[in-house]
Amino acid sequence: MVHVIAEAERCLQCRKPMCMEGCPISTEIPRMIRCFREGKVKEAGSFLFENNPLSLVCSLVCDHNRQCEGHCVLGRKGQPVHISSIENYISEACLDNMEIECAPSNGKMIAVIGGGPAGITIAIEMRRMGYDVTIFDAKDRIGGILRYGIPEFRLPKSIIDRYARKLRSIGISIRPNTTIGGALEIRDLVRDGYKAIFIGTGVWRPKKLSVPGESLGNVHFAIDFLANPASYELGEDIAIIGAGNTAMDVARTILRNGKHNVTLYARSLKSDANEDEIEYAKLDGAKIEFGMKPVRIEKAGPVFVRNIFDEDGKAIGSEDEEIHIKADQTFIAISQGPKSKLVNTTEGLKASASGLLLTNDKGETTCEGIFAAGDVVLGAKTVVQAVRYAKEVARNMDEYVRSLEG
Ligand code: SF4
Repeated sequence: MVHVIAEAERCLQCRKPMCMEGCPISTEIPRMIRCFREGKVKEAGSFLFENNPLSLVCSLVCDHNRQCEGHCVLGRKGQPVHISSIENYISEACLDNMEIECAPSNGKMIAVIGGGPAGITIAIEMRRMGYDVTIFDAKDRIGGILRYGIPEFRLPKSIIDRYARKLRSIGISIRPNTTIGGALEIRDLVRDGYKAIFIGTGVWRPKKLSVPGESLGNVHFAIDFLANPASYELGEDIAIIGAGNTAMDVARTILRNGKHNVTLYARSLKSDANEDEIEYAKLDGAKIEFGMKPVRIEKAGPVFVRNIFDEDGKAIGSEDEEIHIKADQTFIAISQGPKSKLVNTTEGLKASASGLLLTNDKGETTCEGIFAAGDVVLGAKTVVQAVRYAKEVARNMDEYVRSLEG
């Protein structure tokens, strides 16, 4: 456990704070640390939340090594300030009692489809501006990827519950278990008077390997597993195809739930997961094998061939010899794309070949008044990127609704 006060004392209060340059959402880190040192935790909590409503979440799940802490000047010769712990302390202490100032109601309705990071951000931003906001979420509780894609040990679900309470406390309506594109469609929302609609439905469709054996009974997609790990019978030997962050989350979830041998198989020579996540997965007992190209999956486990690489680490072919891996269960963790329900049921709503919604520079989709942000537009990215982009889109939605009056 990092001693937060001692960490705050180490900060040099740099005139040109490199930490801030490393933060994708420009958190005022020196100011946050100064307030903390001066005992003004509430003040720090307020401006952190105002800049990034998900600051508590980001303090836990951001890749701090690549962002704020990775840029801290003290890291050049020693240890950077442990900024994430300070942010976590403040945001944790302040979330429940913080007063969120909202403009008086303007009576205009905004629909937010999807209660993930982008949807939560948009809902808060629009409510602050005085809009009457309803979140429609296909699942029984909001949070999206935060609840159903990030394991409990990295992000406790109780934090998302607290956000849900906070949202309701400022008058945001949440309609759970409601898939737009099912019984209700976007045209129903338009009919009912929503002035603008935001789509933040994320990426929930696992990408296939497109090799034989993917439909076998002991083969599973990572994102489905993470949504509900308790419903899986695991066995002893586990193979995970993929070595990104989702694959690491699957490995660590499995290793923390019993005695298993878990190996991740990456096609390339390195993993694109966060360094920390790789180290923690190894610490939990996972092994990683690189340069392994899956050719099929059998009942007994996956079959690979070794990739051949050039000097730059680019795969230029593969060996002929097959490598048979014994695995009771095989997990496929090679990324996700969006589901297509909304595109299929909404006239004029267009997506790219990979299913990502097409938007202009204001975040407006190919349908007037329908905006989108987050993973459904960018592909699977980080929480902080989704928040940053959603904040911009919220301003554009406000501008759009105002333009309807003029
Ligand atoms: Fe403090 Fe490091 Fe930021 Fe400088 S770069 S203000 S030392 S946290």
